[in-house]
Amino acid sequence: MTFKPANEIQDLNYSDNHKGVNPAITDSSTFTFDTAQDMLDTFEGKSDGLYLYSRHTNPSGQFLADALAAMEGSEAAHVAGSGMGAITPVILQLCNAGDEIVASRTIYGGTHAFLENFLPKFNIKTTFVSPIDLDSIERSINSNTKAIYIEILSNPLLEVANIPEISKIAKKHNVKLIVDNTFTPLVFSPIKLGADIVVYSLTKYINGASDAVGGAICGTSDFINSLKDVNDGASMLLGPVLDPLRAASITKNIRTLHIRMRQHATNAMYVTRKFQDLGIKISYPGLENHPQHQLMTEMKNDGFGYSGMFTIDAGTLERANKLMEAMQRDNIGLLAVSLGFYKTLFSAPGTSTSSEITDEEQDEIGISKGLIRFSIGLDFDIERTFQKIKSCMIEVGVLENNFA
Ligand code: PLP
Repeated sequence: MTFKPANEIQDLNYSDNHKGVNPAITDSSTFTFDTAQDMLDTFEGKSDGLYLYSRHTNPSGQFLADALAAMEGSEAAHVAGSGMGAITPVILQLCNAGDEIVASRTIYGGTHAFLENFLPKFNIKTTFVSPIDLDSIERSINSNTKAIYIEILSNPLLEVANIPEISKIAKKHNVKLIVDNTFTPLVFSPIKLGADIVVYSLTKYINGASDAVGGAICGTSDFINSLKDVNDGASMLLGPVLDPLRAASITKNIRTLHIRMRQHATNAMYVTRKFQDLGIKISYPGLENHPQHQLMTEMKNDGFGYSGMFTIDAGTLERANKLMEAMQRDNIGLLAVSLGFYKTLFSAPGTSTSSEITDEEQDEIGISKGLIRFSIGLDFDIERTFQKIKSCMIEVGVLENNFA
């Protein structure tokens, strides 16, 4: 039967002694035990349903983790204080000194910086490859490789990775496939497509309110438990904890994710089609001319479109900056990094979210200086939004005056 992730969230129940319709928030850092033996068993990971200390697990975090595991169709999940607080322990848990990673070269700048600049301190090497070049992914694997790291919809170029094929390569070489699904929750179910581990920045679409920073890891129970192991679990020992109050607020927001994802995608499709008709250089996987449009159509779940992310090329950084300032002035959206807000957010990746990637690498990858990344908002009147953006484009010279 077709996997329907939104149904999994809809079907979640929360039991609470006081019959509250939302789970009670467990505002405790530590927990008591009836017996000393219970405490020892819990430390050794032998007891079920007992809590030890909130750096390990907190019930409010666990409610959110359960919701995410249900949404992904994974055995288990663990939440973290940020997306980076999810990604970095996963990698450190899988790799020892001397190990290697094969990673997509078009990934979030922070992840790129962690792999390229930070991991060499531990003698862990990363080979960066194009996420759409299956041959180069396979060729880059050697006997030291422990993991392949991919953003399924890449940041900021919006290339779509063929997860079923990459999963075959990973299985053939006995390496773990880690997929960052931050841009496309519900749209893609990477575990169902063959990923071993899915990571999220909850900060973005999943929370959707731009008021919280959080992260999550979905995978097998064994892997999630290994991250939380008191002796050698990277999440437990590095300690990137999600506060229970935030976990509870994100849990409430995830329930409307399906409505938001659909509206973001509907709006993105509307404006990108119109810009394409005007001859603007635009990249959106929902458009038929996107190189992986067909692949995305085959891989995605029904009902959530092609995400709310698209890019346009304004030609030069100067023109991109002028356009973004004009759009902010006209209250079309906000000049800000991040994504998944009710208002449209825009930024120039070359000087913001991808600025950790050197200029030469950016050129090589195709992150042009005039590139603007849009996270389209939940705008009710999207034709009005389109007209307003169009006026700004004419004003700053991204669009010829004869389109006015
Ligand atoms: N993954 C992707 C695709 C992102 O865009 C980001 C965000 O900035 C991250 C991971 C890191 O998440 P966070 O900022 O929550 O640590």
